[in-house]
Amino acid sequence: MRILSPAKINLFLRVTGQRADGYHELFTLMSCVGLADTIDLYFETNGIIIRCDHPQVPRDSGNLAYRAAALFFKRSGIPAGVAITIDKKIPVAAGLGGGSSNAAAVLKALNRHFNNPFSLDQLGKMAAGLGADVPFLLYGRPALATGIGDRLVPYPLLRQYPVIIINPGFSVSTAETYKNYCFGLTNDKKNINNHSFIERTAFDAATHLVNDLESVTAARHPEIDRAKQRLLDHGAIGALMSGSGPSVFGIFPDAQIAEQAFNSLIGQANERIFLTELLTGEDTAQG
Ligand code: ATP
Repeated sequence: MRILSPAKINLFLRVTGQRADGYHELFTLMSCVGLADTIDLYFETNGIIIRCDHPQVPRDSGNLAYRAAALFFKRSGIPAGVAITIDKKIPVAAGLGGGSSNAAAVLKALNRHFNNPFSLDQLGKMAAGLGADVPFLLYGRPALATGIGDRLVPYPLLRQYPVIIINPGFSVSTAETYKNYCFGLTNDKKNINNHSFIERTAFDAATHLVNDLESVTAARHPEIDRAKQRLLDHGAIGALMSGSGPSVFGIFPDAQIAEQAFNSLIGQANERIFLTELLTGEDTAQG
């Protein structure tokens, strides 16, 4: 069984508070993009086996896909038996939700393979136990998220904008970024909050892109602001860091401008560039 496991970007991300257990509360608009890992599942095996040749991706129980499979088998009572081969296209520890997406894709695929022992709602609860972004990636359509990112409201008003993602070629720890975040520290005056932006607010890439975590990562890595500026110089309507970074994306008005920009932007040493698009509808189904 072969499935696709798409990356996500945060079109805006506001840090709204901190819970007693240390987790930060967010208000964020997320969308999947066409950039995706490919996952192959083989069922003629015992236990859970992870195969992945990316040096930063664990192949043991530290892998989020492993943890998703282990949870599925434990809750369903089905004897564990799956080998999971992950072909990593999504940069790792990059603010693109790669590990969370693999977990969501594996949950969905196992449920389908074993004739749906769980409802989507039950899978969503299992997903929340695996990580804050996993419920969104399970859902797969554009959504506004609150809580630690796990309470979702569908957001139907996104166009399938072309997107260019620049990954500057180094990793950032999400936990470290939140640790270094100070309330009141934002490089932007945009006033997006749970009241001003609801599911009926029309998204405007020129004005709504804002990420409270950007100044934390950009303060340590000047590559972030440089990448944003290059995207804007090549015709992006807006540009932003995704999640805790360091990946930066630009939203483009049409496919032709995006393709021209992509062709001019590629070729810089150490960085990876992807030409892709927002996944807004039926096309988002994983697999
Ligand atoms: P976060 O969800 O923390 O914001 P991210 O999108 O920035 O994460 P990921 O690519 O998910 O980053 O990687 C975060 C960490 O998770 C890495 O250190 C990596 O070793 C670990 N990891 C575990 N499982 C996976 C997986 N299946 N794919 C990628 N990374 C994984």
